[in-house]
Amino acid sequence: MNKILSFLVTALLFTSCGAKKDLRVDKHSFSEPHNVRTTHLDLDVKVDFETERISGIANYTIENINGSKELILDANGLRIDKVTSGGKDCAFKLTEKDSILGQGLIIEIEKGAKQVAIHYQSAPNSKALQWLNPKQTAGKKHPFLFTQSQAILARTWLPCQDSPGVRFSYTAKVQVPAELLAVMSAENPTEKNTEGIYTFKMEQAIPAYLMALGVGNLEFQNLGEHTGIYAEPEMIEKAAYEFAETENMLEIAESMYGKYAWDRYDMLLLPPSFPFGGMENPRLTFVTPTILAGDRSLTALIAHELAHSWSGNLVTNKTWDDFWLNEGFTVYFERRIMERMEDKDYADMLALLGKQDLEREVESLGHNHKDTHLKLDLLQRDPDDGMTDIAYEKGFFLLRLIEETVGRKQFDFFLNNYFTENAFKVMDTEEFIVYINEKLLDTDIEAKEKIRLEEWIYRAGIPDNCPEVNSTKFKNVDNAIHSFEKGYPLANINSAKWSSHEWLHFLRKLPKDSSLKDLKKLDTAFEFTTSGNSEILNAWFQLTIPTGYKAADNALEDFLMTVGRRKFLQPLYEALYMKDPLRAKRIYKNARENYHSVSTQTLDAIVL
Ligand SMILES: [Zn+2]
Repeated sequence: MNKILSFLVTALLFTSCGAKKDLRVDKHSFSEPHNVRTTHLDLDVKVDFETERISGIANYTIENINGSKELILDANGLRIDKVTSGGKDCAFKLTEKDSILGQGLIIEIEKGAKQVAIHYQSAPNSKALQWLNPKQTAGKKHPFLFTQSQAILARTWLPCQDSPGVRFSYTAKVQVPAELLAVMSAENPTEKNTEGIYTFKMEQAIPAYLMALGVGNLEFQNLGEHTGIYAEPEMIEKAAYEFAETENMLEIAESMYGKYAWDRYDMLLLPPSFPFGGMENPRLTFVTPTILAGDRSLTALIAHELAHSWSGNLVTNKTWDDFWLNEGFTVYFERRIMERMEDKDYADMLALLGKQDLEREVESLGHNHKDTHLKLDLLQRDPDDGMTDIAYEKGFFLLRLIEETVGRKQFDFFLNNYFTENAFKVMDTEEFIVYINEKLLDTDIEAKEKIRLEEWIYRAGIPDNCPEVNSTKFKNVDNAIHSFEKGYPLANINSAKWSSHEWLHFLRKLPKDSSLKDLKKLDTAFEFTTSGNSEILNAWFQLTIPTGYKAADNALEDFLMTVGRRKFLQPLYEALYMKDPLRAKRIYKNARENYHSVSTQTLDAIVL
């Protein structure tokens, strides 16, 4: 336990007037929503690219549940200038700073207060915000700003009750330079105006981690009746082609688990420095350009972000310890959508790649490590530590096991009710266990014993009843590798119809000690180094780095200088550092300013 945190926790537990029980459910937030909770936000801010600050007023409607004299919000690095309520100034103080959680903003309120307005500005190095200079964009002429609030970074650009258990609706007015368009996780404008002032409305209540803002030289294009894409003009056609099937995905998703609750589903294509594949900001998924493969082969990621409209955004994990309820369900739903979009073979390839990720994650964490439990224990840790493949893939395989055991029809019926009955509510692991037992498993004791739910959730590693997945397509790839290993010419391999997933499996399963000569042969035959597919490049570089295959060096450096997606950067820098620490440091020093704080936090620990 770090010292400051220990002090803070103690301070929250014991006030000067005596012992006070800490009733907070979420230990990653200072807020006490059981006393006073925020129910609506009216935000009025200005985005200043010169000083790299967001400043203005966050005006909250509050509900005082038990006549408390304090409203507590989260803040991290914010400058608080003034707080008012009902036209009068309020006294406020910031608690001592904790390196992970930031500060509690304690505001004195009158018992009957309905509104509290906080005048504030963000710090230039706010962790949620990435300010890109024109060179870091596709158009090279205008700057770009995007936010990444999950898990606990909303508090670095907005004072808020930054806990997934607190939902609020919002309206916003955002002022940006006149040549730029602002978009949010809300009802959005589709065209620029001359003043650079935009208004937003989000009627459905959302947790703070889904607050999102993007500002850039953006255009909008419709993809269907309820779907569309925002991107820089230089990228919009490419993005519109790649994501053309989104409306179809939306219809498929609705036909499985009920009506889409957020009216429109649009996407914002970000510059390549975005640290994630996608972020499920409601109404406006933020998406990396690294899935623009030119052949729609990586769009399972869109199915994933869309699926979050149910699992995560509609039924939300109560705390970050329950993260698997957001991600495991979403991966399951994503693969079900892809099965309908393509076929079972396709979904099984995704599941097998997922299993490889899961096995690698368990290997790297350790088979007995507590972080391989589905239910996490992130107390006094950064919730980002829990964002591993365990939540995604172990969560997926548990749900697949349940489906296989009780039958798809029954499981779909259960899931449909789960999303409907718990819409706009939070769910924690324990409540979920009670729910699924009551609704599905208590009436089928044989299935219940077969699944061993609690072992999956509270025990380490991969249980021995983890579903097997077979793929004829991957078997063909395995045979191809085998023939290559035996020395048969690569021309014998019939790869003309391989998808990105087959290539990925091929590269992952090639022997790790492939010789330079082997890599040269492979590169000559399949042109991996010049591939336009980021997943293939990432897997290829993981072979070329340890082998010292120099012909890929320039492509690797270009990739590291432009792409900021943590999933790619982490294994590549690990491999680079192991091979040649000085080179890793040199490249990282040049590239670091292109990365978001979410990525640098992980990479600093590897390279610096
Ligand atoms: Zn997700």
